Amino acid sequence: MDQVKIGCFIAECRKAKNLTQMQLAEELNITDRAVSKWENGRSMPDTSVMLDLCHILDISINDLLNGEKISMENNDQKNEQLLLDMAKEVEQKNKTIWTNMWVIMGASITALFAGIFVARFLIPEGIWQLVTILGVCIVFLIPCFYALKLEVSVGAYKCKNCGCEIVPTYKEAKNAMHMGFTRYLKCPNCNKRTWCKKVIKK
Ligand SMILES: [Zn+2]
Repeated sequence: MDQVKIGCFIAECRKAKNLTQMQLAEELNITDRAVSKWENGRSMPDTSVMLDLCHILDISINDLLNGEKISMENNDQKNEQLLLDMAKEVEQKNKTIWTNMWVIMGASITALFAGIFVARFLIPEGIWQLVTILGVCIVFLIPCFYALKLEVSVGAYKCKNCGCEIVPTYKEAKNAMHMGFTRYLKCPNCNKRTWCKKVIKK
């Protein structure tokens, strides 16, 4: 899905209906900031408001997801529901993966500190204490790599230079420097290395 294209399309349809961002937001019971975010291509409308949004703008879900008016011969209700379900499914899957990643990281960081604590205070100083601390740290790396795998599998990274969305391979992501979820990646579109922010559809 091309968020920027969809954003422009939403703005276009809104103006065609003579609505301000504020008015559209009010009709949907959301903030005008959210509408502005869609139109700038920074986020997608939540599936919970998609149907209402399409209704107000007088477009189909298919039009919205494509960012343009699509003439379909059998553009019936069933088709719409199918597309909506698909979008919902992807959203739900991404949410679950993202939550799992946080749970894994939380649990393993807790275990890391618990392990170091136990080694520090319950094992007498000496070689075994050192071995235990080292062991705990090595074991900690396993969930880290797994969490990275999950992180990479959800959404994409946005190039700072051209705004293009980058989906790196696991290896590329692993080798890239990172600060939080921002990774230093090479963009295949403009060939520049920038600090790319993680973008995830929530
Ligand atoms: Zn780029």
